[in-house]
Amino acid sequence: MRRQRKAKIVATLGPASGDLSKIRALFDAGVDVFRLNFSHGTHDDHRARLEAVRQVERDTGRPISVLADMQGPKLRIGTFAAGRVAVKTGERFVLDTDTAPGDASRVYLPHPELFDVAAPGQSLLIDDGKVQLLIESVSPERIVTKVMNNGMLSDRKGVNVPDAVVPIAALTAKDRVDLDFALSLGVDWIGLSFVQREADVLEARALVGTRAGLLTKIEKPMAMKELPAIVQASDAVMVARGDLGVELPPERVPGAQKRILRVCRQYGKPVVVATQMLESMIESPVPTRAEASDVATAIYDGADAVMLSAESANGKYPVEAVSMMNRIITEVERDPLYRNMLDAQHENPLSTRQDAICAALREVSTIIGAVASVTYTSSGATALRAARERPSTPIVSMTPNLEVARRQSLTWGVHSTVGPDVQSVGEMVEAACRVCLTEGFAKEGDQITIVAGMPFGQGGTTNLLRVAEVSAVAGSTAASAEARSTSAAPSEYAAAW
Ligand code: PGA
Ligand code: MN
Repeated sequence: MRRQRKAKIVATLGPASGDLSKIRALFDAGVDVFRLNFSHGTHDDHRARLEAVRQVERDTGRPISVLADMQGPKLRIGTFAAGRVAVKTGERFVLDTDTAPGDASRVYLPHPELFDVAAPGQSLLIDDGKVQLLIESVSPERIVTKVMNNGMLSDRKGVNVPDAVVPIAALTAKDRVDLDFALSLGVDWIGLSFVQREADVLEARALVGTRAGLLTKIEKPMAMKELPAIVQASDAVMVARGDLGVELPPERVPGAQKRILRVCRQYGKPVVVATQMLESMIESPVPTRAEASDVATAIYDGADAVMLSAESANGKYPVEAVSMMNRIITEVERDPLYRNMLDAQHENPLSTRQDAICAALREVSTIIGAVASVTYTSSGATALRAARERPSTPIVSMTPNLEVARRQSLTWGVHSTVGPDVQSVGEMVEAACRVCLTEGFAKEGDQITIVAGMPFGQGGTTNLLRVAEVSAVAGSTAASAEARSTSAAPSEYAAAW
């Protein structure tokens, strides 16, 4: 099974998409990465969803990655007795230290530090700024506000106080518990929320090590100041427009998005554009024209992936939202202008052996009309550098390491596969031809290009570029090679394959 597009789709799981059949439907519609949002749901919910994703992986034979998105030091209100309440312009609304469920006049605010730094005249924004409150007075137990616009407040909605400097740690006590749990589940990516400095990423790295990739969410204006260092310290990045667009004036978000995409491309780090991409599809089976254009723009700008949040987690049309993204991406990628734009943003290779080989891979593939470029990679680094070239030839990544294969499902243009642990160039060429045949990238007589590092099995050794013609022999030896491939794969996958 292969997708007919290069950019990837991330979808958040939630009550509207929690069970196996829904997750399968979302995968079939085009999801490459599933996101578990640790701001909502219980550990049992997340475990069940992860197990369902792994089941879909076994059923389809396609590596899928799971992103565990940590809540981070996000400020949130408590809950309401009725689940949600309406507030009206001009009314008073109180945020206090009383844990009792709220009503239309008050709600619990479980962040004592905020009572110290909030001050009259500051605005306090709820639910990504949908409800704006103006602080009138502050005491150690109560923040009294005036409602500035009609709106709805519901359980655990986010709070931003852009004018106040809130002393927050990068990972809260809850995050540390969630992080341990997510790593014990074997998730592929950890999402770091509200990163402000490179040091925040390094702190998480010390805890996570290489057990998962670190995906840093850029949602604080402060992170923009240290962007190159933050991007380099991360394995992937998210343009988290929900919070970024509350903390920054909305008109500054598009420029920030383009700058983040540019810096990520420069360093060859996968980047996801997130939040409100198809927001109206929470309630409607079709998006607005502006939303369709927003998804398309992210793709034209070279994003690796676009993301759905509430649209897939608790909207009415999760599968339709994924299909819509799939269609928009496919359409953009068909446009000759897309290729022009990607080429115009092309970053020069660094003067490393790996980048030189990946630049040559792109050029040789184009010149000979190769149908696919296979990267044989143990750490995944070669496929990332090949993707940074944004070649028009599809990249088929072959790795003996299931974790690497899964993680790569986020990367632009990479069709990720688990392959045999090869011992010689001959075996590698044979395996590369076979994977292109079986995955539908090549037929007999087609040419493919292959990059690898020798000696095999050592990360960071990219030093080999091969051209091969796909022959029937590759297909006929598939059975024996398949047996090798299966025995080389981690046991969980071997069982499935
Ligand atoms: P969130 O992150 O959905 O966890 O808040 C994304 C964003 O802020 O855009
Ligand atoms: Mn956020």
